[in-house]
Amino acid sequence: MIHTQLLIVGSGPAGLTAGIYGSRADLKPIVIAGKELGGQLMLTTEVENFPGFASIQGPELMGKMIAHAEQFGATMVHVDVTAVDFSQRPFIVHTEKEEYRAESVIVATGASAKWLGLPAEARLRGHGVSSCATCDGFFFRGKEVAVVGGGDTALEEATFLTKFASKVTVIHRRDTLRASKPLQHRAKNNSKISFLWNSQVTDILGEQSVAGVRLKDVTTGKESTLDVAGVFIAIGHQPNSKLFRGSLDLDDHGYITPHGRTSTNIEGVFFAGDIEDHHYRQAITAAGIGCMAAIDAERWLSAQ
Ligand code: NAP
Repeated sequence: MIHTQLLIVGSGPAGLTAGIYGSRADLKPIVIAGKELGGQLMLTTEVENFPGFASIQGPELMGKMIAHAEQFGATMVHVDVTAVDFSQRPFIVHTEKEEYRAESVIVATGASAKWLGLPAEARLRGHGVSSCATCDGFFFRGKEVAVVGGGDTALEEATFLTKFASKVTVIHRRDTLRASKPLQHRAKNNSKISFLWNSQVTDILGEQSVAGVRLKDVTTGKESTLDVAGVFIAIGHQPNSKLFRGSLDLDDHGYITPHGRTSTNIEGVFFAGDIEDHHYRQAITAAGIGCMAAIDAERWLSAQ
């Protein structure tokens, strides 16, 4: 059993920034980094919108954040959390190896983009397949791209992509959009956006980078291909909050419901990043909330 003042669950920009601030506040935080260290940026290639880094690979940026947190005394533990007990203090966090007792906890487990589940999608991720137009849209200047999905995210991504792409095709599996009316109106009135209805992506084509998608019309069964240089999968995100069901207040989609700036419903348990924020979903916003959560945890601990 290991005791700590501050335990951080998650090692994306939110968790690691909390680690930097927590260690500089002399809380000697333990970061349960998970087996998949570094969060969603580990799945991207070029990052061009993190201040101070005009161009850096996602994994390299995360490597720098890990080193930064460790340099000030944060301890990274490369295991997954298996269960939590927030009903008593110190809080108990079980991992595959050890049991931790923590005076305060920051939950920064993030969210994961939903994927179609095609083998080519995983192979070409970062090489034309993306789930973040804000992150990767810039690389498709003058090129034709596709967006898969029919919700708010898909139309927001499609509209954003028209800043760069010469043409954006929204591929939706039905003939009715789920997206809100204002977003629909904006997308339908954008001359660069066209829609392919009742269509499912059955394969992503290309060896080193995306060359197109194979489509199936779900009403006729007819197959076709569409030549595009990029495919943005926008079929929703899921918060990584399964572990906290029953102990933390979650909304209908599973995101943490805030009770104050970075507070959860349990005093002493704080949140940071995409586990609560489904609006901005940026590395820099996650890092900012990680900073806020560590400051809030430090002040709360001091007041105890
Ligand atoms: P969403 O509303 O769940 O929409 C997901 C879309 O992807 C749906 O059109 C769905 O099709 C499609 N889809 C799901 N699985 C699929 C699959 N396996 N293959 C093909 N298509 C698939 O997700 P979201 O757009 O990310 O939005 C999530 C939440 O955030 C919503 O509450 C949304 O309002 C909110 N949001 C708001 C804004 C804004 O207000 N500006 C922006 C982004 C998100 P079906 O329609 O057939 O189910």
